[in-house]
Amino acid sequence: MQDTPMHDGPRPAPDPQLPRVLVLGTGGTIAGVAPQSSTATGAGYTAGVLGVEQLLAAAPGVQQHARLQLLQVCNIDSKDASPGLWLQLAREVQAWRARPGVAGCVITHGSDTLEETAYALDCLLEPGAPVVLTASMLPAAALSADGPRNLFDAVRVAADPAAAGRGVLCVAHGRVHAARDVSKEHPARIDAFGSGERGPLGFIGAGGLRFTRQAAGPAPARPALPAPGAQPAWARVELVCSHAGADGASVRALLAASRAGTLQPPLQALVVLGTGGGTVHEQLQAALDEATAAGVRVQVVPRTGPCEGGEFDGLNAVKVRVQLLLQGLALA
Ligand code: ASP
Repeated sequence: MQDTPMHDGPRPAPDPQLPRVLVLGTGGTIAGVAPQSSTATGAGYTAGVLGVEQLLAAAPGVQQHARLQLLQVCNIDSKDASPGLWLQLAREVQAWRARPGVAGCVITHGSDTLEETAYALDCLLEPGAPVVLTASMLPAAALSADGPRNLFDAVRVAADPAAAGRGVLCVAHGRVHAARDVSKEHPARIDAFGSGERGPLGFIGAGGLRFTRQAAGPAPARPALPAPGAQPAWARVELVCSHAGADGASVRALLAASRAGTLQPPLQALVVLGTGGGTVHEQLQAALDEATAAGVRVQVVPRTGPCEGGEFDGLNAVKVRVQLLLQGLALA
């Protein structure tokens, strides 16, 4: 882990009184670069190009709020994220929290799967020193790029003791969201993140950090982190959707491949995006009954929004899948 210079000139010594914040870079649009012909609009950009040091250099003033340590964990488009990344990030956060006198962590991430990583970390980590994920909708050099401000705000939240003990947070567009509530609600709008009916936990702006509510919902299952170097056996948890004409063919194909041993790991659970409050086409239901009989866990969730009540209260389908994957890890 390096304490990297962020500009070419002589660097003023960081104020030793400032909180110490770790910034973990993973890529995403926030680290994206557009071709020269479309730099201003950002059209046709490639995600996950710039290093975390370059992102911080574009957020002037951030060093007045925290002493920063930087670590580039990976540099990817978050569509390509994997459960292995969740474990890697969780270990880095745990190691940072174990150091004396440190404040929080920021994770720069692509917006597409931010909610999955945020919720996985929420399940894996004890509530404690702040862990704040941030992203952007425009690549780094686009006009009005939102990344530098989001990163600046994320560092301020991570450095603030008021953000501790609230679980993993997401900071974007001046709002502070809880990992279990946040989702990407729009593919392109600059304020793409929302927390549904619950709304954000708070706000970060010129007036500083202000929380307006407590995090809600049952505490997530918290499996122990596998030891570094261990190759955890992830379960296979697939998503299927009920829709007009859903005949269950994809479920039967998964079952057949599992039985034949050609699908590895074999199917362990299905998260089914159901219509209405969680209803399923009768033909798909017949295939799901076959899955249940074969020992596959079937969890139906509404395709219109998060679950209401029960074990998965407030979680959307991809987060229910995260939780089932982590439960499988706990059992492995
Ligand atoms: N595809 C990008 C990613 O998730 C989108 C973004 O970051 O806004 O990495």
